[in-house]
Amino acid sequence: MSEVLLNNQALAARYLQRFREQVTGHFINGRWLIPDAAASFDNLTPIDNSSLGRVIAGTQAEADQACEAASAAFPAWRDLAGSERRKLLHKFADLLVARAEEIALVESSDCGQPLRFMKQAALRGAENFRFFADKAAEAKDGLALMQAEHTNFTVRSPIGPVAVITPWNTPFMLATWKIAPALAAGCTLVHKPAEFSPLSAALLAEISQEAGLPAGVWNLVNGFGESVGKRLTEHPAIKAVAFVGETVTGSHIMAQAAPTLKRLHLELGGKNPVLVFEDADFERALDAVVFMIYSLNGQRCTSSSRLFIQESISERFLAALSERVRHLKVGHPLDPATEVGPLIHSSHLQKVMSYMDAAREEGASIAVGGRRLTSLGKGNYVQPTLFTEATNQMKIAREEIFGPVLTAISFKDEAEGVSLANATPYGLAAYAWTNDQGRAMRLAHQLEAGMVWINSENNRNLPSPFGGVKMSGIGRDGGDYSFEFYMETKNVCLAHGTHPVPVLGR
Ligand code: NAD
Repeated sequence: MSEVLLNNQALAARYLQRFREQVTGHFINGRWLIPDAAASFDNLTPIDNSSLGRVIAGTQAEADQACEAASAAFPAWRDLAGSERRKLLHKFADLLVARAEEIALVESSDCGQPLRFMKQAALRGAENFRFFADKAAEAKDGLALMQAEHTNFTVRSPIGPVAVITPWNTPFMLATWKIAPALAAGCTLVHKPAEFSPLSAALLAEISQEAGLPAGVWNLVNGFGESVGKRLTEHPAIKAVAFVGETVTGSHIMAQAAPTLKRLHLELGGKNPVLVFEDADFERALDAVVFMIYSLNGQRCTSSSRLFIQESISERFLAALSERVRHLKVGHPLDPATEVGPLIHSSHLQKVMSYMDAAREEGASIAVGGRRLTSLGKGNYVQPTLFTEATNQMKIAREEIFGPVLTAISFKDEAEGVSLANATPYGLAAYAWTNDQGRAMRLAHQLEAGMVWINSENNRNLPSPFGGVKMSGIGRDGGDYSFEFYMETKNVCLAHGTHPVPVLGR
């Protein structure tokens, strides 16, 4: 075992100690709450399935309490000058940076993502907070729309208290993406993190208190989706739900939120294609294909899990790809050398393994991997896997596996490549590698996805829209798109005093 790993483990143990010693509770109205006789559950680490401590399994009554706290805090937070919200959010960002090491080690231990990817998480989170902090004052700005005898102007105001419901794969980053614009817009919130990886959410709530956010502006409830999560989507005080998770959960939320007519932003599952054409830069395309499915343990919504490779270069590309996949370093997430860590939970490991069986049954080849890795102890480790000789009709090409598993299929020409890429109910992201500029342009228009990257992996630009089409979601994050979600637009129409007013009953 390397010395760096031993050091990281010792440091992580220190940061995690508090979660072992005390149940992780709710944070409601500026206070930590562990209700008497509350039910709780073990939070298991993917590294060896031991418990990192117990977490409260919240009740509907506790969810209600959090919604009411967010509702009571809303008017004052809404009315606070944007410049003041800006200061508080910058303070929050400063604290994220100050606690970057702790955030990275806790997050890696809790969700199994390798430290090499989590190291920058707090800094990226802080950058996101600063980006929206600087926009807090102008968020209300609207348009002036002229008519001959009237002047219209629009103003935006925060929609109200919102619920933020996040998944387990990269919980810290996803929570900060949602919460920073909500707060900058002037919304108060209740956050419910996933039950499989709740620890960074507790750190975030703690930091909100340290930064001086008024009580009730940021509330956290822990527990299961079917109880507390569901209640947040039903509570009449909550005006909008920002949700990231599975497609099926998204449709449940839509139904749950219908009676109270909430605004919804749903960021859901994907089965994202990457097309590699014969004219692509071979090495760069290879690097990106490997990175975009095997980084973050393949537990990434924008991972390119279907590779479409042009027949003329298929053999050469798959040979090079197989070599790279075989050499991926699977290991302890706190080891800086590790490229692929353990999957979030033993139940998810089983799900991923079921696709290895499906591949065998359906007649695909398992070019690399395909087995569980038990040599690394009791953790949820799986071999990075590459399926070849697959067809687009196979389960492994249709369903989201959400693991370090890639399905490769070859295509003849551009028309076939596009048609195969689009033959999916999902539409989150698509990637293409080609040096033909005309083709790049055609693909940009034809690929059915909310985001298309050409000759690039998942580059993120904070003002750009992020989100999916088809069964991958509704709505967009990023820049002003986030404010459009968290704010209502009001039109004010002012007459110039010259137009004829209709006269009745005179
Ligand atoms: P999930 O849908 O099981 O759970 C997500 C959250 O919803 C959790 O906090 C859960 O407790 C809660 N929840 C569950 N049922 C609920 C209900 N009925 N009402 C309210 N809340 C409920 O998702 P997961 O397994 O945690 O995460 C993996 C999924 O997330 C994958 O499908 C992945 O593609 C998706 N994801 C999408 C994006 C994106 O940007 N599109 C980003 C990350 C992850």
